[in-house]
Amino acid sequence: MAETTTQAESPARKHPVLTDDGYILSMNPRTGELRCKIKCTPVDEVPKIVAEARAAQKRWETLGFEGRKAEMLKVSQYMIEHMDELAEVLAEENGKTYVEAVTMEVLCSIDFMGFFAKNARKALRDQKVPLHLMPLARSYVTYKPVGVVGIIAPWNYPITTPVSDMAPALAAGNAVVVKPSEFSSGAGQLIEKIFKESGFPEGVVRLVYGGGDVGAALIGAGVGHIAFTGSTPTGKKVMAKAAETLTPVTLELGGKDPAIILEDADLDAAAEGILWAGFSNMGQTCASVERVYIHEKVYDRFRDKLVAEAKKLKMKPAEQDSSFGAMNNVMQAEKVNEQLKDAKAKGAKVAYESELPETGYYAAPTILEDVTGDMSVSCDETFGPVIPLFRYQTEDEAIAKANDSPFGLTASIWSRNGDRAERLARRLEAGVVTINDHMITPGFAEAPWGGVKQSGIGRIKSLDALRNYSEKTYIFNDRGTMGNKFWRYPYNLKKLNFLKEIAVAFNDKSLAKRIKGQLSVVPRLLFGKPDKS
Ligand code: NDP
Repeated sequence: MAETTTQAESPARKHPVLTDDGYILSMNPRTGELRCKIKCTPVDEVPKIVAEARAAQKRWETLGFEGRKAEMLKVSQYMIEHMDELAEVLAEENGKTYVEAVTMEVLCSIDFMGFFAKNARKALRDQKVPLHLMPLARSYVTYKPVGVVGIIAPWNYPITTPVSDMAPALAAGNAVVVKPSEFSSGAGQLIEKIFKESGFPEGVVRLVYGGGDVGAALIGAGVGHIAFTGSTPTGKKVMAKAAETLTPVTLELGGKDPAIILEDADLDAAAEGILWAGFSNMGQTCASVERVYIHEKVYDRFRDKLVAEAKKLKMKPAEQDSSFGAMNNVMQAEKVNEQLKDAKAKGAKVAYESELPETGYYAAPTILEDVTGDMSVSCDETFGPVIPLFRYQTEDEAIAKANDSPFGLTASIWSRNGDRAERLARRLEAGVVTINDHMITPGFAEAPWGGVKQSGIGRIKSLDALRNYSEKTYIFNDRGTMGNKFWRYPYNLKKLNFLKEIAVAFNDKSLAKRIKGQLSVVPRLLFGKPDKS
């Protein structure tokens, strides 16, 4: 059975990586060995760091869109030129395969920096707001930076996730203070190094290190927005803390993503796609496939293809072409192994189980059948390489089962009939639905990302992200075109009748009454004199 193995040097059990004397132990999960120690940021220093970032933000804002773009492109160029070095650190501290360190971390981060740098001007230009009641007024929304954006990041994508928030926040003219997970603080140091060595203006990007207390301190330190990515329970704490200061939040939380294989699906393509979306990054992705609903007519054929493909994968985490890495940390490995143990004890059948290395933090990539509702793996987030298979008979049943979860991050439908798949996609309760693919859109800078239900609040990425990290000011100027300020004092019966006429002119169900009403009302609105009687 898959077991978590750790070396004797592993830290004390009360917390695997935080020491009593204020350090984070950066571990190599492939071996369980200590890489280095990183000093925690004292909690009482966090407000000072935010204040310093706010001072640096003023200089950053004055660079304007073009100046900021030039600085941000230097960062993405640095990452292009140091891809191997970055992938090496990510693979070593995070346990990722080298291929995933490049595709899912470095490549995405390069692209996000470039995209938001190049598109900020367009997204943040003044936005006209035409007024049907006052068509001649000047009416528009302007955007300005919120100041400092606090970013609290998880360990599973320790560069991509913070960068997906940093890039739009910076492009919009904000400074950022990033709190990496205690399990990926080495990646946090890597972020500092990337920005420093690419010559990015000093002080605009700050990192704070430590556990949840440091994250909580950041929320209360006067930031203009908190971008949180992590688990649903912590997300709730973050929102409660942010409520104390009415700090706006975006919450990107957990998932239990379903995939629905229709009877007309291309089963080879589906098996390939589901395998990758369930096992890559050792299943430690919020949008991993964690439930697969397969039409009964194709269940056996799909399962056989999936298992046959899984058997081709290679568990050699130290080698550059390994299909599997390690779990990131001992706690997560134990959590997944507990779910597997529970499922097997309650009768789940193992259709496939990978072998494991001797040392390090692991849970075996596993395909399960006969999973029942009393097993934790059927409903709780696994966040590990486990793919449970379920049969269904009708479309309605598949949709109902897919929606039967407190989570709603992403979902996928697999079918040769694109129209049918898109029709069903609209019935799924998820922030993102993909057809014949799963877990691909987090890499698209243009596509909005986020979940419904307990998978989060708000959306990140897309041009809207630039607006989310901006204060909106609505500006109205009637430019003297509104002669008749009919809503002002004095109130009298003549004015009351005019108000009723306005209501009819713009809203009555009869077109004739609306036309007649507007012909009468609009000239009086524009050119009428205030009634002072
Ligand atoms: P956690 O919720 O444990 O932690 C996330 C971050 O919050 C960490 O930096 C953590 O610090 C910090 N934190 C912990 N407690 C507090 C607190 N009280 N106030 C402020 N910050 C706090 O998540 P994980 O790091 O374990 O990440 C895994 C989770 O993230 C999964 O549920 C996954 O689904 C979700 N996720 C969601 C994504 C999405 O886009 N929807 C993307 C990626 C992951 P520390 O680690 O130091 O305790």
